[in-house]
Amino acid sequence: MEDIGGEDGIIDVHTHYVPRGWPDLRDEAGPDALWLDIVSESDAIIKMGTREFRHIKSTAWDAETRVRDMNADGVARQVVSPTPAFFGYDLAPDSAAKVARIFNDLALSIVEPCPDRLIPFCQVPLHDTDLACRELERCIANGHRGVEIGNHVGDHDLDSAGVVTFLQHCAALDVPVFVHPWDMQSTSRLNRWMGQWLVGMPSETHLSILALILGGGFDVIDPRLRIAFAHGGGSFAFWLGRVENAWQQRNDVVGTSAYPPSHYIGRFYVDSVVFDDRALRVLVDTVGADRVLVGSDYPYPLGERPVGDVVRRSAFLDERQRRQIASENALVFLGGSTPTSGLGRSA
Ligand SMILES: [Zn+2]
Repeated sequence: MEDIGGEDGIIDVHTHYVPRGWPDLRDEAGPDALWLDIVSESDAIIKMGTREFRHIKSTAWDAETRVRDMNADGVARQVVSPTPAFFGYDLAPDSAAKVARIFNDLALSIVEPCPDRLIPFCQVPLHDTDLACRELERCIANGHRGVEIGNHVGDHDLDSAGVVTFLQHCAALDVPVFVHPWDMQSTSRLNRWMGQWLVGMPSETHLSILALILGGGFDVIDPRLRIAFAHGGGSFAFWLGRVENAWQQRNDVVGTSAYPPSHYIGRFYVDSVVFDDRALRVLVDTVGADRVLVGSDYPYPLGERPVGDVVRRSAFLDERQRRQIASENALVFLGGSTPTSGLGRSA
């Protein structure tokens, strides 16, 4: 696979893990607690009570398998984040904190065999700001390098006071944040053809970016916060013009943020997992080549393989832009803008 990441290799900021088992969570999450039905050495089914949630393979938990795939795809390092189904924001805060601790510690054991290749991101009980901040601190002290959060907490968006306080804490601790859509609306219309994933997720992420802009989040959060949104930022880039027009024309949107929406370009990153070079071009033209990061959604079927494929084959990118997207922007996002900071390429 052609190396497009230059000296640093590709850094994939959007992958997920699932441990190969965890303690019984029924006391914390009730009878529908997620558990893992291990079918074979390499296959398992995440179950919700007796219901099947998702088939997974050892790629979800086995570092060696992941690194083999990374080598095949020319990926030097990958960020290993939770699978959103385990966020538990609907649990009692103490239970969610306990679940977060269990999964965060299991994540460290998954990446432990390959510390130079796998970069762990933790999860937090985001619906309880104090507990979320404490778990973040504990995780960073133990070796996590960032945090993945869901794009909303029930009816609260990213501009809610508790989430803004948490994001401020991330900025103060210099911890990068990856925002992933989850808990999509379930309606008979959205439940056909994977509508929750194909329509719900992009609109959820679009709404989250709007929440930080129009909800005033970016106006109060330290501009040094490094925050990235999954799936190319959802529908945001395509509809920025519509949002901008509403901000100028519609009374219920005018002035809800200190500046027009386009002013906040530069405050966040998006990943590249949009599959189509025309979509990538819209992203690069809208948010800038310095704000796009390679993401893949590995190891799930809606992910991109080979990782970075759309970045590799997009003829409109010049070599400098390709290098930025492949690795240089990720080094900045992760907080290691120079190889000497510990994120440089390892064997
Ligand atoms: Zn994902």
